[in-house]
Amino acid sequence: MLPNVIIIKKLSDMKCYLFIFLSLCTMTIQAANNSENPFFSTYETPFGAPPFNKIQVKHFMPAFLEGIKQQNKEIQDITSNSEAPTFRNTIEALDFSGALLRKVNGVFFALTEAETSKEITQIAEEVTPLLSEHGDNIYLNARLFARVNVLYEKKASLSLNREQERLLDNFYKDFVRAGSSLNKKDQDRLREINKELSLMTLKFSDNVLKEVNSFRLEIENKDDLAGLPQSVIDAASQDANGAGLTGKWLFTLRIPSIIPFLQYAENRDLREKMYKGYINKGNNDNQADNKVVINTIVNDRIERANLLGFPNHAAYVLDENMAKNPETVMPFLDKIWTRGLTQAKKEIADMQEMIQSEGKDFNLEAWDWWYYSEKVRKARFNLDDSETKPYFKLENVREGAFAVANKLFGIQFKKVNNVPVYHKDVEVFEVLDSDGSHLGLFYTDYFPRAGKRSGAWMGNFGESYVKDGKEVRPLVYNVGNFTKPTADAPSLLNADEVETLFHEFGHGLHGLLTKCHYISTSGTNVARDFVELPSQIMENWAMNPEVLKLYARHYQTGEMIPDSLISKIQKAGTFNQGFMTTELVSAALLDMNWHTQTKKQDFDVKAFESSSMESIGLMGQIAPRYRSTFFNHIFSGGYSAGYYAYLWAEVLDADAFDAFVEKGIFDQETATAFRKNILERGDSEDPMVSYRKFRGADPNPEALLKRRGL
Ligand SMILES: [Zn+2]
Repeated sequence: MLPNVIIIKKLSDMKCYLFIFLSLCTMTIQAANNSENPFFSTYETPFGAPPFNKIQVKHFMPAFLEGIKQQNKEIQDITSNSEAPTFRNTIEALDFSGALLRKVNGVFFALTEAETSKEITQIAEEVTPLLSEHGDNIYLNARLFARVNVLYEKKASLSLNREQERLLDNFYKDFVRAGSSLNKKDQDRLREINKELSLMTLKFSDNVLKEVNSFRLEIENKDDLAGLPQSVIDAASQDANGAGLTGKWLFTLRIPSIIPFLQYAENRDLREKMYKGYINKGNNDNQADNKVVINTIVNDRIERANLLGFPNHAAYVLDENMAKNPETVMPFLDKIWTRGLTQAKKEIADMQEMIQSEGKDFNLEAWDWWYYSEKVRKARFNLDDSETKPYFKLENVREGAFAVANKLFGIQFKKVNNVPVYHKDVEVFEVLDSDGSHLGLFYTDYFPRAGKRSGAWMGNFGESYVKDGKEVRPLVYNVGNFTKPTADAPSLLNADEVETLFHEFGHGLHGLLTKCHYISTSGTNVARDFVELPSQIMENWAMNPEVLKLYARHYQTGEMIPDSLISKIQKAGTFNQGFMTTELVSAALLDMNWHTQTKKQDFDVKAFESSSMESIGLMGQIAPRYRSTFFNHIFSGGYSAGYYAYLWAEVLDADAFDAFVEKGIFDQETATAFRKNILERGDSEDPMVSYRKFRGADPNPEALLKRRGL
């Protein structure tokens, strides 16, 4: 796929709206002075970073329209070239086309996720169908495909290097997968489907964000705070002040707010209220309800897959992944499922025992899980989150991630203050290789706010590539929703947040260390079930005793984390894995169930999900990690029929990390092999080939079960 080109489609009643908007827009362009639009000139900033201090909302639409126009012209130049197709005049030209569009896409779609607003949401609604249409205009361009096809047929005679061959293969496949071999009627239908999907997937995540922002648990009575650590109470008081509720305490569905509440709040009714608020996002039969949206998305995907010759959407998606087809994924998930479920049942029994021992007589429910698992952990390992948190000050954890990268690859992170940012929470680092050469910029944006979607992710404002002998390095960012500082304490992370920070940092390294020539093969543009390898492997370093001693210092005393605490962390390592595995695998199975549907129909979303979860024997005390109506990964974020990838990649990362364990977690030879074969390679090679070069063998599937203690 062309980088940053959003795939997909549209609604007929939008047409008129779009038309009006476009006319207005044209007028705006004529009236505005283009020289003032930062997207239209070379960024005069350090490292060519986006000039967020100059970029205004009004600049986006003109830049999108001009970017589309320019790329159309470039495509036309390729197709009208009277010379016979060559790799350079066709494939390379295609890969490098659309520079302006990439520039504005990179900035705009970073903001739609991390710093959105009414205006940005509105532009997104207007521009996504245009981009979808634009993508289709390229991939359904018969003359362009004919040139690609000529080259593909005589690939062997072109004397291409490995990356060039891969790029040609990828483009050829992308054209076929986008429908270039279909007849005109089917192509027209495909365009409609794509446009509609582009809008519906956007609407889905907007609805989830609306639901997160609209839920509030306001507490007035101090007694209702019983059990909560002081830091959590302070944060809730601060949030209340920010919302004009002085003297109260405010809890929200954002992870740093809801998780400690579920872990510690003694008031069981309030835990239930929070939990139900969380799992019913997008399922409240209000304006932000996602059930109709899901129906449209699922049915469109079925129809598109069928048009393209696949029985269902999963088959279409997996054809491009390492797993290749649903028939490989399902037994893979089933095996982990069975082991996870057995373990989860034991965990329920342990917690039920704890409830009884407190002299209470209720059965464990889903909103009790965090609370009682925390109690069992405390009883069994004498460990709870509030004991470790003081050692996990966010800045120290980030320094720890930087230190690990330094010890493995010799790279350095240097804070820079002269690069413009889109929010005051964003910090920027220049990344330098061991020889001092520039590798790229790394932005971190770690705290929740109303304009930011939930979760954590990595992305870039611009890919890396080499053009006309000049190397352009990437601008990579990590975004998270971690515990915020309060008036009395800095941001102190729980163990889960520490691992998430390392996880996203791993994606960051994958983006930063890339050494590819082409945009489409660069960095993290790899198969969905391979992309989580560089991220998940980093989690292994996060809690390693040797690594903890690099960064885990008490935020007040500066004292290094004591050995006794490290050993408790180690011992508790596989605690609660039944739950974690079960909620993850059930979500992956739910994803597969939706996307292996073969017949368009009116789905009853609630009933579909219930019967899907019943069929695998999921107990009421656990919900899938994401329920359908807020499963952004699969209905908005590009992981459809791909949520299994986290587990798939875990097989790879557990096996890959074993290579480090065998020789030492900072072994230079292993680190270099990992960097050269995995982190630098992008999609310039088949991922399994790269993996074997690193490991010298296929991954061993038992590594995952062993690590999860199953
Ligand atoms: Zn990830």
